[in-house]
Amino acid sequence: MLDVEEFRLSVRAWLEDRYDVLPPDADDERLDVIVRTPDGHEAAARAAKRFQRELHAAGFAGVDLAEEYGGRGLSRAHARALSQELMRHDTPSLRPLGVGPTLAKATLLASGSEEQKRRFLPGIASGAEQWCQLFSEPDAGSDLVSLRTSAVGDGDEWVIDGQKVWSSYAADADFGMLLARTDPDAARPHAGITMFILPMDADGVQVRPLVDVTGGRHFNEVFIEGARVAAEAVLGEVNNGWAVSSGTLSGERSGYMGGSGSGRRRRQVISAARAGGRVDDPVARQRIARVVSAERILEFLRGRYVSRTLCDGSGPAGSMLKLAAGSLEQEAAELVADLRGAAAQAWPTAARDGDVACHGVNAARQSTIAGGTHQIQQNLLGERVLGLPREPRA
Ligand SMILES: Cc1cc2nc3c(=O)[nH]c(=O)nc-3n(C[C@H](O)[C@H](O)[C@H](O)COP(=O)(O)OP(=O)(O)OC[C@H]3O[C@@H](n4cnc5c(N)ncnc54)[C@H](O)[C@@H]3O)c2cc1C
Repeated sequence: MLDVEEFRLSVRAWLEDRYDVLPPDADDERLDVIVRTPDGHEAAARAAKRFQRELHAAGFAGVDLAEEYGGRGLSRAHARALSQELMRHDTPSLRPLGVGPTLAKATLLASGSEEQKRRFLPGIASGAEQWCQLFSEPDAGSDLVSLRTSAVGDGDEWVIDGQKVWSSYAADADFGMLLARTDPDAARPHAGITMFILPMDADGVQVRPLVDVTGGRHFNEVFIEGARVAAEAVLGEVNNGWAVSSGTLSGERSGYMGGSGSGRRRRQVISAARAGGRVDDPVARQRIARVVSAERILEFLRGRYVSRTLCDGSGPAGSMLKLAAGSLEQEAAELVADLRGAAAQAWPTAARDGDVACHGVNAARQSTIAGGTHQIQQNLLGERVLGLPREPRA
C-alpha cells in the first residue's frame, strides 16, 4: 500500500498548487462556515460540492473506502493525513456536504446491504449526492427512543408519517437516514424501530429551514406526510434500527469535533492575544496554555482512538472524545472573545475580527448539544465505564 507520508506529500503538492497555505498563526475562521444569508448558505454548499468533485478527480476522495465502492482503497491513516493537510490550506470548507462522508458512509458500511453500498457509497465519495440525518424529533432528542415518526408496511412499500427537527443540511440533501417506529407494540420501545433511506425529493417530504443563534441556516424541520419508500430502503433489518443508529451515533460523537491536529485553537487564541495586546498578561497566558495543552491532548487521544489503542473504538471512547472536544470548543471561543475585549462586544462594520469572536462564542454553544448532550455522555460514561447505578427509566 502507498506509504502514508508519500501520500501526504502528494496531497500537499496538489493543494499548494491551488490553495494558499494558512500562516501558522492564521485565525482560520473559514472553518466556521459563517453563513448568515440564504445566498451565503447556498454559495458555501456549492463551493463544498465543487471542491469535493476536484478532490475526487485528483484521487483524494473516499481515501479509505474500498475501490468497488468508489474509493481509493487506502487506510484510515491516509484519510487522517488528508484531513490534516486540508486544515493547513485555505480550501473551501467541506462541512456543508453534510453527514454523507462521515455518518452515512459509516452506517452504510456497517449495516447496508451490498446493493446499497454499491449504489450509495460512490455518490458520497464523489460529492454527487448529499445526505442528512433524520433522527431527532420535537419530543425525542436525548430520549431518542421515544420517537413517534411511523412507517407502516403497505405491500412492497413503507408509508412514512412524522416530523423531524434540527436536521442539518436537510435542505441540500438528496437522501436522509431516517429512524421510524415500525412496531408500536414491541415489548421494548428500542425493538420497534427501523432505519430507512429516505429520498428527500419523495412526495410528502417538506423541508423548512430554521435560523440558529448565530444567524446560520443549516438547520431544518422536516415534515413527512404519507411518503412512500420501497422495501429496499430499509437500512439494516426491520425493527433493528436502534442497533444500526448506535453505530451512527458513536461515529458522530468521536468524529464530530475530535480535532485533527490542526492547531486551530492555538492559532486562534494566540492571534486574539496579539490583537488584544494581552500577550504579556500572566492570567491570559495561563488560560492560553490551558487551551493549547487541551488541544494537544485531544489530538493524541484522537490518534489513539483512530489507531484503536485507546479502546476498541466503541461508544464510551466516542463519548469521552466528545466531552473533551466540546468543552475545549467553548473554552477556546470564550477566551478568544475575552482576549479581544470590547472589540468582541461591538465593532465597526468593516472590522470582522470582533464579529468573528462573537460568532465563535455563539456557535460554540452547539458543541455540548449536537451528537448527544454532555449530560447524556456523562450518564453513558458513568453507567458503562465507571459502573455507577443505571439512571432510573420511565
Ligand atoms: C448543531 C446541531 C446539529 C444537529 N444536527 C442534527 C441532525 O442533523 N440530525 C438530527 O437528527 N439531530 C440533530 N441535532 C439534534 C441533537 O441530536 C439534539 O439536539 C440532542 O440530541 C439533544 O436533544 P434535544 O435538543 O431534544 O434536547 P433535550 O433532550 O430536550 O435535552 C434538554 C436538556 O435536558 C438534558 N437532559 C435530557 N435528558 C437528560 C438525562 N437523562 N439526564 C441528564 N440530563 C438530561 C440535556 O442534557 C439538555 O441539557 C443537532 C443539534 C445541534 C445542536
